[in-house]
Amino acid sequence: MSDTHYDVLIVGGGMVGAALACGLGDSKLSVAVIEAREPDLNWPPAEYDIRVSAITRASQRIFENIGAWQGMKKRRISPYRDMHVWDATGSGVIHFDAAELGEPDLGHIIENSVIQAALVECLQQFSNIDYLCPLSLAGVEWGDDGVTVTTADGDSLFASLLVGADGGRSWVREQAGIEVKGWAYDQTAVVCTVKTEKPHQETAWQRFMPTGPVAFLPLDDGSSSIVWSTSPEQAETLTAMGDGEFCQQLSQALDGRLGQVIRVGQRGAFPLKLQHAEQYVRPRLALVGDAAHTIHPLAGQGVNLGLADAATLVQVIQDAVLGREDFGSYAVLRRYERWRKADNLTMLASMDGFKRLFSNDNLPLRWMRNIGLTLTNALSPLKNNIIRYAMGLNGTLPRLAKRRPL
Ligand SMILES: Cc1cc2nc3c(=O)[nH]c(=O)nc-3n(C[C@H](O)[C@H](O)[C@H](O)COP(=O)(O)OP(=O)(O)OC[C@H]3O[C@@H](n4cnc5c(N)ncnc54)[C@H](O)[C@@H]3O)c2cc1C
Repeated sequence: MSDTHYDVLIVGGGMVGAALACGLGDSKLSVAVIEAREPDLNWPPAEYDIRVSAITRASQRIFENIGAWQGMKKRRISPYRDMHVWDATGSGVIHFDAAELGEPDLGHIIENSVIQAALVECLQQFSNIDYLCPLSLAGVEWGDDGVTVTTADGDSLFASLLVGADGGRSWVREQAGIEVKGWAYDQTAVVCTVKTEKPHQETAWQRFMPTGPVAFLPLDDGSSSIVWSTSPEQAETLTAMGDGEFCQQLSQALDGRLGQVIRVGQRGAFPLKLQHAEQYVRPRLALVGDAAHTIHPLAGQGVNLGLADAATLVQVIQDAVLGREDFGSYAVLRRYERWRKADNLTMLASMDGFKRLFSNDNLPLRWMRNIGLTLTNALSPLKNNIIRYAMGLNGTLPRLAKRRPL
């Protein structure tokens, strides 16, 4: 039985928790990351992880500024320069092109295992960070000056601030008694890596069907990672059927845009829900990432929102330390909550609206959305604004999400 004191204790060393820790690296604060599961840091290069994330420019800058981007680049990242989105029930189409924006790309598709490995490698370089993994927690107690957590082995850890970065089913959020609002989408995302007859042209392809969208995300060896959101019943059938039949159905779902799907890897399925925590902060507590919000993956924004949470919390803590304020106090943490809640709610509502609009087979609505897509595609300023929003470049960015002056 031992007692250890930290300034910041982060529960959950996933992509968001690990990024938050790296953001506090090289500071005077003592930080610990508690992670229950050992990450797979030696992913075989011959295989692609079936879980990938579309990483926005804002998130790329966060990774660059905390020192993790090189670790991803040296493993494997796949830029995408174009994006084609269209409606299966009409002629509406929208096309985004990095060149039109004067950008080298619109973002990168990166395997979650690559992001995770680079972040863990990065945080292990900082002498002010302890990475406690695997470690399970048994209890937590809040006091006026800090929080005490008890590990499953009976050790106690004390911190001025506890951060819940422990995902959608957050144990920390539950211990704090923070309620969530939201609903299940009655959709499941089927994911896998596929090879197609035609090249993907470094383009992200997304077709909206009434049952849900199918997305093909380009990978650097010419294969694609797919996310097919559909009814739970169809998802079950899709994951159970033979490879040949799956390839055929998937080719049809993308309307043959990349020719036939000729090879498919292992398939996984993830039930989808929208969830938003009623509070992100309490005295001595902050929630970040999926612990605070989960979102439909149709625009690939979940982890990007979480990384923006982490970058904002780093800034609020650093500014409080500079101003000699108590960074675990409610008054300071509310700055983080006010900043991020508004941005997150806007994105959650937009994606929910999109999902509902495109899942609807009502004829007037189909006309409206097809005309809307075509008009938006023709209006460059509006289109550019949408893509800048999707790249995470609109609004007030935290320092870590800005380009570092040369
Ligand atoms: C099909 C699909 C596709 C997606 N595609 C994209 C995309 O393209 N772009 C994008 O931005 N987002 C995408 N997302 C969303 C993204 O995956 C999540 O937003 C992201 O994983 C959240 O990261 P996190 O670190 O907050 O939580 P998690 O990834 O859930 O990590 C939480 C961590 O906490 C640990 N943990 C949990 N409980 C405890 C505990 N009690 N003690 C210690 N450790 C604990 C877990 O082991 C885990 O490592 C997608 C989601 C799905 C389902």
